[in-house]
Amino acid sequence: MPWRPWWKPGSMNRTDGGPSSPLGCSLLPERRLFGIAACAGVAIGPVFRTTEAPPQVTRHKIHASDIQAEGARLDAAVLQSRKQLMKLRSRLAVLPEESQGEIAPLLDAYLQMLGPSRLLRGVRTRIADRLVSAETAVMEEANAIAATLTAASDDEHAAGGHAARQAEEVREIGRRLVRNLTRAPFRSFAGAVQGAVLIAESLRPSDAALIDPARIAGVATEEGGTDGHTAILLRALGIPSVLGVPGLLSGLRTGVTAVVDGVVGTVILNPDSTSLSGARRAVASFARDRQRLSRLRRLESVTLDGVAVSLQANLELPIELPMVAQSGANGIGLLRSEFLFMNRDTVPTEDEQARSYRNVVETMAGDTVTIRVLDWGGEKEIEALVTAGMVPELIDSNPALGLRGIRLLLRQPELFETQLAAILRAAHAGPVRVLLPMVTNVAEIRAAKAIYRRVADRLRERGAALPATLPPLGIMVETPAAALCADVFAAEAEFFAIGTNDLCMYALAVDRGEVEVSELYDPLHPGVLRLIRMTISGAASHRIPVSVCGEMAANPDMTPLLLGLGLRSFSTNASAVPRVKQAVRGTTISDCERLTAHVLQQSDPEQVRDALKVFGHSSAY
Ligand code: PEP
Ligand code: MG
Repeated sequence: MPWRPWWKPGSMNRTDGGPSSPLGCSLLPERRLFGIAACAGVAIGPVFRTTEAPPQVTRHKIHASDIQAEGARLDAAVLQSRKQLMKLRSRLAVLPEESQGEIAPLLDAYLQMLGPSRLLRGVRTRIADRLVSAETAVMEEANAIAATLTAASDDEHAAGGHAARQAEEVREIGRRLVRNLTRAPFRSFAGAVQGAVLIAESLRPSDAALIDPARIAGVATEEGGTDGHTAILLRALGIPSVLGVPGLLSGLRTGVTAVVDGVVGTVILNPDSTSLSGARRAVASFARDRQRLSRLRRLESVTLDGVAVSLQANLELPIELPMVAQSGANGIGLLRSEFLFMNRDTVPTEDEQARSYRNVVETMAGDTVTIRVLDWGGEKEIEALVTAGMVPELIDSNPALGLRGIRLLLRQPELFETQLAAILRAAHAGPVRVLLPMVTNVAEIRAAKAIYRRVADRLRERGAALPATLPPLGIMVETPAAALCADVFAAEAEFFAIGTNDLCMYALAVDRGEVEVSELYDPLHPGVLRLIRMTISGAASHRIPVSVCGEMAANPDMTPLLLGLGLRSFSTNASAVPRVKQAVRGTTISDCERLTAHVLQQSDPEQVRDALKVFGHSSAY
């Protein structure tokens, strides 16, 4: 076999996580693991290890002219699979030595299968000779090799089921390839019991959007960073979560108890009685804290020296609307419209979109709703757009720098116009603003404005009811270029919303969802703070409103700094609104300005953090 050497026969203790698990070893009594705190709260529950649903492949024939394209799709899926496995391998160092010795050869064997192996040779031959799609060829070839091995295993009891295990591993690598080829949703949460803690290698934003917060108590994953969209969705759903936990899957069984502490960023598997009672106390204290904060709902958002600060909510999923109402937010500062496009086969029609937006606008009953047009790209993959041929099929090697946000919309005017028309129709029901994502050039704003006006004219000709004046059209300032050019962009845009998540990522050249470099992702970096300051002064030069809607806005420790920089409008996930309000109500603008003047003289993010800590301790909240 080309992918030998295999692991020590009999050394792998397969877990209940099933055949999809590449990392299986024996269960330890109590394991305390550390990761990135992604959503505050503590959850205790039985582990539900998400088995990746076996991808369904229906046999699909192709034309001879498609052979090359199918080969390219296969190459991209192989590359993606290799990256996933290399990442798992790079984390082995945190595991006990014994586990490393067992798992490393297995991962190496997987990786070998993704090199010049019998499997891949067979797959390519099938595509070319039998004229089948890449996924069909992968499934058929993997099954054929596995069947040969299984037949051999009937005669080799002495080898301890060695060939049978090999057969399963070939199938497993086949499944991984097919999942990466079809980009089918990885997850099936159907088997999770009430109150389960969901544990996975990684979750995509579209997977996270499927989680029912009434059923899933907590989430932990090996992959992921604090400001990636998966983390944002988990916060939106209010599910205690810890991401980027190395070694999480090792020896893990569905059903064992797990404690997820999304405040400090720990996961305890199989907790002993002391840990368990500590966790129960933390759950109760968190609930008390939440209740105390909920009393702030009716209080004004105003500083001690009487300056009003607008606190709005970000909305990712319609399920959050009741939480927004409870939070005391005075509007939606960022409606991420991606949710409408996720987990479906077709692109939503104008009517469908108009209904959804109108529902939000009516629910907000007169408070402004800022609807951001589709921000496809980066980690926000949307299958329906691929199916509709609106975005390239191939995996972009640098998706965050590729066809994202406004760039895609200007390339796909029909997609853009449909969404603008739906938003304009919803604007008849209440105050709306329209927000453009990922702007880097003034020409993009101008082009978008021209399309916006054209869509409005067309709707009026159709007799649609529109507001007398068009809703303001603003831009996300989330690229360094937009921040640096804020003074000129402010002449074209009617408002700014600062997206600190992407701004930080692009300014520091650090992927916001990547665990390997998560310690470098720091919104308190002086470079990021200077870009925010430039944006605010750019907005002031043309007297246009500016708000902040990235995750920085949701961190009450950073509220004084943002107030000191001049921001008076914040948009955060609903559960952060009371905490930020508490910070606003506990400080004065003059103190914040003094803090900010000091902070802007610092050269190191750690000094900035220290200054914020000292300020936090000295202030009343
Ligand atoms: C941001 O980049 O800060 C932002 C709010 O947009 P998103 O997180 O959706 O990219
Ligand atoms: Mg962004």
